[in-house]
Amino acid sequence: MSKYVDAVMAQVRAKNANEPEFLQAVEEVFATLDPVLKAHPEYQKNAILERMVEPERVVMFRVPWVDDKGIVRVNRGYRVQMNSAIGPYKGGLRFDPSVTLSVLKFLAFEQVFKNSLTTLPMGGGKGGSDFNPKQSPHTPGKRCSDAEVMRFCQSFMNELYRHISADTDVPAGDMNVGGREIGYLFGQYKRLANEWTGVLTGKGLSFGGSLIRPEATGYGDVYFAQNMLEKRGETLEGKKCVISGSGNVATYAAEKLLQLGATVLTLSDRSGTIYAKDGITAKMLKDVMALKTVKRGELAEFAKKTKAVKFFAGVNSWQVADKIDAAFPCARQNELNGDDAAYLLKHGCRLVGEGANMPSTPEAIAKFLEAGIMYSPGKASNAGGVATSGLEMSQNSERVAWKAEEVENKLKAIMKAIHDNAWEAAAKYGHKGNYVVGANIAGFTKVADAMVAQGVC
Ligand code: NAP
Repeated sequence: MSKYVDAVMAQVRAKNANEPEFLQAVEEVFATLDPVLKAHPEYQKNAILERMVEPERVVMFRVPWVDDKGIVRVNRGYRVQMNSAIGPYKGGLRFDPSVTLSVLKFLAFEQVFKNSLTTLPMGGGKGGSDFNPKQSPHTPGKRCSDAEVMRFCQSFMNELYRHISADTDVPAGDMNVGGREIGYLFGQYKRLANEWTGVLTGKGLSFGGSLIRPEATGYGDVYFAQNMLEKRGETLEGKKCVISGSGNVATYAAEKLLQLGATVLTLSDRSGTIYAKDGITAKMLKDVMALKTVKRGELAEFAKKTKAVKFFAGVNSWQVADKIDAAFPCARQNELNGDDAAYLLKHGCRLVGEGANMPSTPEAIAKFLEAGIMYSPGKASNAGGVATSGLEMSQNSERVAWKAEEVENKLKAIMKAIHDNAWEAAAKYGHKGNYVVGANIAGFTKVADAMVAQGVC
């Protein structure tokens, strides 16, 4: 890293010493920016790096709610409004006990570059709470009831609504925030603000949601992989793929892979991994989707009822198959480490398409880059979700609803544009084929140029 980058990184470490995820995300981006900073001295002159690592605003608030037993519970809510240089803040809400300021700052920082890559006018933000909808506060082993989730969402929105609007900040879903939660949040916003605007994305189809939004992140991840393969004259047909997660991103990535003729060997969740030697079928996938979104159950239950799969309790998807062509980490951050990367490479893996945010550790990324395989960082390959959220915003503003085919074609075109921009930026700055460098530089320059043009603010 250059002296300038080193100096800013040292300041970031000193100021955010208790935020390991945020430091990891900043370091990963900074490590790739030297060539573009050298070519554009105005970025240093305008303290662009120093400003980019400082959120424009962070809101942290109390979320009190009453559980089904009448007991008052208190969670912590956050919204990190990171950067609005190129558009209103945009990024999901995550409800999980692992949510901390560090996790949300890392996600918001990544979101700035991701949103810039989508080619749409969206700034970066992220929010959420340490609320755990998967664990009832009063009955061990049970989930929160719908009524508890609703009361939590309403209380969360009672504070958040002051800080968001269709032109200021447009949150969406993320881990544990799906259609049900977005519906409750939207209902409460509408009541408080007394207006119907597209203030949240990922809404139900009957109230302004976009077709293909639920599918978009997983589908987009697979489209990105298709683009990487096309560059090398290959397709996904017949490729053996391992996927982690069995939530929104993972299941729709699996669906698109099946549609394109690939074999999906694994899915996972907190209980463990299911491995189907001959491939997970469309029917099995449908059952997993129903289990996770309607029954809200675990893969361990699914494995008990399905002879064609083997179950590995408490284990992720990376080290269970013998022959692997491609891996799609779609669950959570830092879920694929150096050992996993070594196993994947040893067993034939030549493509890693990140659906989750920062799922590969720095050691794993180093191994993928050293091996020269096709590796796409989440900020590029999972940008299809936020891009389609951007399309939902456009439809809401125009008061129209596009057909599924139209949205999917736009998503496909956006994923190709993201791929090509990252590819070209990498080549321009001497790192041909390195999507980490390409995505970081392509995402960074658009935001940096806007910040320079807007003066010191
Ligand atoms: P989701 O529907 O809640 O699914 C998350 C999956 O990860 C679930 O299968 C969950 O298992 C698993 N998981 C979470 N924590 C785990 C842990 N500690 N150990 C093992 N498994 C764990 O969330 P999602 O929307 O698919 O998001 C997945 C990732 O994609 C996240 O990194 C998110 O930030 C990123 N992303 C999402 C979108 C989007 O549009 N949804 C867009 C861009 C990026 P359980 O079911 O057992 O909890």
